[in-house]
Amino acid sequence: MSLISDNLQAVRADLAADALNAGRDPQHINLLAVSKTFGADAVVEAVRAGQHCFGENYLQEALDKMQAVHALLPDVTLEWHFIGPIQSNKTRQIAENFSWVHSVDREKIAARLSEQRPEGMPPLNVCLQVNISAEASKSGVLPSDALPLAKRIANLKGLHLRGLMAVPEASEDPLVQRAAFSRLRELKQQIEAQGIPLDTLSMGMSGDMNAAIAEGSTMVRIGSAIFGKRTYAT
Ligand SMILES: *Cc1c(COP(=O)(O)O)cnc(C)c1O
Repeated sequence: MSLISDNLQAVRADLAADALNAGRDPQHINLLAVSKTFGADAVVEAVRAGQHCFGENYLQEALDKMQAVHALLPDVTLEWHFIGPIQSNKTRQIAENFSWVHSVDREKIAARLSEQRPEGMPPLNVCLQVNISAEASKSGVLPSDALPLAKRIANLKGLHLRGLMAVPEASEDPLVQRAAFSRLRELKQQIEAQGIPLDTLSMGMSGDMNAAIAEGSTMVRIGSAIFGKRTYAT
């Protein structure tokens, strides 16, 4: 077995154990494999080990990789999620090539994605990225602006607003990790209480998956625990 398939198996086992510890059904937590900085061969290995959903942060890297993976596995359809910062001149290619976008934090970007989503495709699934720790340097809508933004984009016809995503401030303390994830869960409930149905909490990475699952994550985004250490930042 390859290292990637060993790692995937270990992550799946951890995910299931974390879910059961939290009294949750592991089937309700999706595993997104974050393949940024790794090549098409790494994605192919993960696919052979049963993985179908992949997250990418950089558009050009992602498009090149999709093409290379498709050439190697022409009969396999994968689900690609865009999870990185979005520049407005990149929205068309994102709308045309991805199933999900987790990093929507401005109305203008949402409107462009909606307009540019091709007619024949199902609506683009989106999550609002929330700057849950209110860090000056981070992307994401501030928690206090999330509800008005959700209201404005919930009816865009090219989009299907699914939920919220966050990357909390880095901490090794499980209690600090849980506090941030708990705030995101409450924010989702507040938005739902205003009549906007949401089914997704995209939260939890390699270093804080356990805390995220304990607080209700429905999609964990795992990179290094599957593919290994990245050799450049982010
Ligand atoms: C890189 C990245 C991940 C994966 O991080 P790991 O710590 O390698 O698991 C998840 N979410 C986002 C938004 C990322 O940029």
